[in-house]
Amino acid sequence: MVAPGRHARVRAHGPRGVRTIRIVELVRATLGLSRTMTDSELAPPGVPPHVDSAPQPAAAQVSAAAPSPPRPPALAVQGLSKTYEGTQAVSDLSFMVAPGEILGLVGPNGAGKTTTLRSIAGVLPLQQGRVTICGTDLARDEARAKRHLAWIPDDPQPFDSLTVNEHLRFTASLYGVGEWKAGAEELLRRFELTEKREALGGELSRGMRQKLAFCCAWLHVPGVVLMDEPLSGLDPRGIRSAKDAIRELAGQGAAVILSSHLLVLIEELAHRILILDRGRKVFAGTLDEARATLSAPPGSSLEEIFMAATEGPQHGNDGEVEASARR
Ligand code: ATP
Repeated sequence: MVAPGRHARVRAHGPRGVRTIRIVELVRATLGLSRTMTDSELAPPGVPPHVDSAPQPAAAQVSAAAPSPPRPPALAVQGLSKTYEGTQAVSDLSFMVAPGEILGLVGPNGAGKTTTLRSIAGVLPLQQGRVTICGTDLARDEARAKRHLAWIPDDPQPFDSLTVNEHLRFTASLYGVGEWKAGAEELLRRFELTEKREALGGELSRGMRQKLAFCCAWLHVPGVVLMDEPLSGLDPRGIRSAKDAIRELAGQGAAVILSSHLLVLIEELAHRILILDRGRKVFAGTLDEARATLSAPPGSSLEEIFMAATEGPQHGNDGEVEASARR
């Protein structure tokens, strides 16, 4: 196994011959590092990446009560703002996610969802605000914070020259997962990638890339999981496996942010919803709280809530509604 934190070379002996990859480039790309890190900053082997929290029950409907009692958040975002050359993508956004909680992140196109997730993941440099991941300030100790994090973008791009199995081995090495093979086997079976274990990243279909991203995220038991439209490329069986796996992750104590336009999915999996519009929070709370706060009829769907939150008088910069001070 390759120890991370070395400017070493990995020699991968696959069926297509010897491939040499600079491990430091892989580490930077995988963790989305915005700068070159020193050896000591990279995750040392043997450090468990788990969140220090008790397991929680599996996720429930969004209208159900969030896990209780309140505990320190696994993820805290305070005053996050991001501007792209004149475009204010995210404005003064604050929220928290508890261990074991699934937060559904929704909003119209261009609302700032991906920008928010990429900022938390450290893929975009933090311009303004503070992100704390499992107790570690992202700006102060980026490597340590990222050790607790799994990031599943909407179109994962695995390394072209690594096989599926090598991605798992690399992820295990990077996150210091000692006994990874049995877990990897189970994940490959679960996501129907067993037959593709020797396929290169560049040979995978979109759905398979998505499944590989799930396997890598699940392998190291993250404390915080960020997912941007994670089911968009999956087949029906893959969707079911992914939904089960998301519930299990939360059940093991991970805080999950699930960003999607599939409101039925959010309704099914999330404990709470966070609605963004034009970069601002327009609502945060449970579906029941949304119905009450936005004067939506009892039993109204998330779709109706969404329309009320983003089309009504609360639309735009004046519309922030917080269902609970704790959030
Ligand atoms: P969607 O649902 O369409 O994926 P989103 O909620 O994820 O949208 P973002 O991708 O975060 O929204 O975009 C938020 C705003 O920032 C939009 O106005 C968008 O045009 C702008 N934006 C995003 N990325 C860039 C970029 N690289 N350069 C300039 N502007 C950008």
